[in-house]
Amino acid sequence: MQNQAADSLRGAATEAGSLRALEAELSLFKEVLRLLPAGVTLLDENGRLLLANDAATAQLRLPEATHALNQRREIALELLGTGRTLVTEETVGQGSSQHVLLSAHRPVHIGEQRLLLSSSADISEQKAFEDQLFRSAYYDELTDLPTRRVIEHRANSLLNRGEQERFALAFLDIDNFKHINDYYGHAIGDALLVGLAKRLSRDLRETDMLARISGDEFLLLLSPIESAQEVADYMETTLKRLSAPFFIDGSEIFASTSIGVSLYPEHGISYEVLRQNADLAMYRVKNEGKGAAAFFDAGMEHEALARMKIEQSLRLAILEKRFCCAFQTKVDIRSQQIRGIEALVRLRDEGGVIQAPGDFVNLAVELGLIDELTHLVLAEIVKSIDRINDTFGPDATISINVAAKQAGNPEFMRSFAEALEATGFPSRFMIEVTEDAFVAKSHFQQAILPMFRKLGVGISIDDFGIGYSSLSALADITADEIKIDRSFITDIHKRPRSQGILRAIESLSAALGMTVIAEGIESFEELAYLQAATNIRYAQGYYFSRPIFLEELKPAIPLASETRVSLASRPLQESRPGYSSRGARGYRR
Ligand code: C2E
Ligand code: MG
Ligand code: MG
Repeated sequence: MQNQAADSLRGAATEAGSLRALEAELSLFKEVLRLLPAGVTLLDENGRLLLANDAATAQLRLPEATHALNQRREIALELLGTGRTLVTEETVGQGSSQHVLLSAHRPVHIGEQRLLLSSSADISEQKAFEDQLFRSAYYDELTDLPTRRVIEHRANSLLNRGEQERFALAFLDIDNFKHINDYYGHAIGDALLVGLAKRLSRDLRETDMLARISGDEFLLLLSPIESAQEVADYMETTLKRLSAPFFIDGSEIFASTSIGVSLYPEHGISYEVLRQNADLAMYRVKNEGKGAAAFFDAGMEHEALARMKIEQSLRLAILEKRFCCAFQTKVDIRSQQIRGIEALVRLRDEGGVIQAPGDFVNLAVELGLIDELTHLVLAEIVKSIDRINDTFGPDATISINVAAKQAGNPEFMRSFAEALEATGFPSRFMIEVTEDAFVAKSHFQQAILPMFRKLGVGISIDDFGIGYSSLSALADITADEIKIDRSFITDIHKRPRSQGILRAIESLSAALGMTVIAEGIESFEELAYLQAATNIRYAQGYYFSRPIFLEELKPAIPLASETRVSLASRPLQESRPGYSSRGARGYRR
């Protein structure tokens, strides 16, 4: 009996103990549930909320907000009715940007009750990121305009409608944007793009679309249109609007834009063709002086085809190394000594005819072939160095032209500096760069020049006076030589304005320690003027010598077209009848 009582007492105690243990366990689970980062809710068949942990309370904005809860209730009732499982994205909170991923499971049975247990994870951050990715694929970050894909899609849907409604596609490209960027810096370049996009968007209709398709290129879709004239008028107004100055960061910036337009269906029936043809028309505008608009016409297609042929033959010529160098002397006009020579590249075309670079150097730059070409020129010089020394003397400097685009490309310039060093006589060389390369002066000055300075390679500013830099920009440039463009030298003895410019360049160059070379002397009068009225010491030009091929010095070799011309001019270093410093009398400084 006593035992029994003791047993029952012990039993009660154990029961109480296990109850306590259970309670403890339950409160532990409750605590775990409460703190779970995922929201957990439990609803019954009447839509009553039996449980919501902290995360769910926050997500559903409980207790006040009922919108999200009602939404959840609807889902619960539907799922309890059908017995389905559901995984869905849910926006919670009114007008809020909080997104959750909701997983509602098959109803759970507890006793008599069927309950809906759901869990929800906050995916707002991930959603925002996805949205941002979406936007960046379809909208340009800088100008907030649609991208190439969007306008292509819009054009295609117009084309697929089959209604044959006319529309226009305009290709716009800012003229010399690179110079603006180089000169004013990228921040201002960006601001200009934004300003331009704003002006372009100003009076577009709902059904038109403007897209930024790359750097400084925009596509404009005008739809619907009535006539070509209407589009032409619109383009004229647009050009006018774009040519007004932009005020950015205290600077007044002028920009012009070239526009090419194609019309559907006249100029193409697919987006790709319409865009290409608008591009061709734009290209024509660029070549004819920029800052205007033109419609596509069939002649442009032929032009493009012809260009493609030239392109192909240039590629082939590079592949087959069909290049050679002509050399032109730089002469000391006081002592008549040869100071140096300039290597001028020539192409031997498929028929063996020699071509001057007028036709192909710019194309080579455009096609990205110029680097290879420059290395070929250097290789030819190295191969001919003995003959160069025999002909012009072992001290003559050797100038090589480098395109502005190359000069701004550290990778090329590094490889070129290495190649110059590898010749074993780098200090014989000078590189001639047009002043455009110096517009982005800090870059060229700081990153590129020192490499060449270290090797003793001289730097020359070619064609000075016709590019984008100003006289004052000269002060920031450390070059050894400045070559005054032929346009100032031609008939200099008759042109007081050019004489004034020449004097200004001369005195500035003297102050900065740069040697001045006058380019393109053709006549005795020009030379006489330089000798008498200036301190300029060096000149280059047909008067002294045309560019010559070294082979021409050995007449056994068949003569190329240019060779004949060169031989017709006087032999090197020999003074011309009538050429003497006496002829220079009569000019006053
Ligand atoms: P540039 O460097 O200013 O070279 C001078 C140009 O003027 C040469 O034309 C030369 O033949 C011509 N010239 C020289 N004296 C006279 C003259 O008294 N009267 C006239 N009317 N012309 C004269 P070229 O050889 O046709 O070269 C044209 C341009 O092509 C060069 O101008 C240079 O910018 C570029 N070029 C030539 N070779 C190369 C090269 O290897 N690489 C690069 N990147 N450009 C080159
Ligand atoms: Mg040159
Ligand atoms: Mg020049």
